[in-house]
Amino acid sequence: MTEQRVNEPDVTWLDPDTVQLRQTKASHWEAPFLYLLFGRERSLLIDTGATTDEAQFALRATIERLTSDWLRRNPVVFVRPYPLVVAHSHAHGDHIAGDALLRGRPGTTVVGTSPAEVIGFFGFHTWPDETVSFDLGRRVIDVIGGPGHEPSAVAFFDRQTGILFTGDTVLPAHLYVRDLTQFRATVERLIRFRDDPTAPVRELRGAHIEMSNDPGVVYPPGTVDQPDEAPLPLRPRILDRVLAALDELDGTPGQRVVRRRFIVTLNR
Ligand SMILES: [Zn+2]
Repeated sequence: MTEQRVNEPDVTWLDPDTVQLRQTKASHWEAPFLYLLFGRERSLLIDTGATTDEAQFALRATIERLTSDWLRRNPVVFVRPYPLVVAHSHAHGDHIAGDALLRGRPGTTVVGTSPAEVIGFFGFHTWPDETVSFDLGRRVIDVIGGPGHEPSAVAFFDRQTGILFTGDTVLPAHLYVRDLTQFRATVERLIRFRDDPTAPVRELRGAHIEMSNDPGVVYPPGTVDQPDEAPLPLRPRILDRVLAALDELDGTPGQRVVRRRFIVTLNR
């Protein structure tokens, strides 16, 4: 077995066309999750991690390796360079810092991080209420407007795996609510999407783990060792619990509502 270098992410193939990457705690304490989805015509990378230095986080080398592995297994895909679209769950620094490592890569489009750029790229006509689709080639991704934690946030639903990628909006961690009205509308939007039988949501995967396996117990920000962390995937019904927790907020800045698998925190 080869030893993992600290700058390499943890890599998990969720299915033959879908990779989950996690920047290691040794590389950055935020240890964000990234997702790489391959389609017949292009791949989609959701988020780029917390680090701008390839020596500290080997994002580009990892993308090259995973892409050539996949292309070797899928020789029918012959377009070169095979296009990569880099998009984001939201615009906070620990999810977009690695953009610099991929900008200028052949065949690569890095989507801008302002609401206007996200709206324009995906073709939203009514933001954030509309859900738009983005085709990777025989693989359709639904892009759902998701502001509230951050103004340009979106959720991505992958019909192939049934995974709803929820960024920092719904995850086993602090749910930091910047704009309560928008956040609540986003959770209601995700519930409507979940309840649509044409889009069967199997599970949610967000961008961090901060909860421990003890219900309601969180690792504080800055923790680099999480030996007993909660699992990342959340069941779709968690959305109802998030909505109920939001309803307990009275608007006091810094207020927290603690649940087994998440802590809603109203930003100061
Ligand atoms: Zn964030």
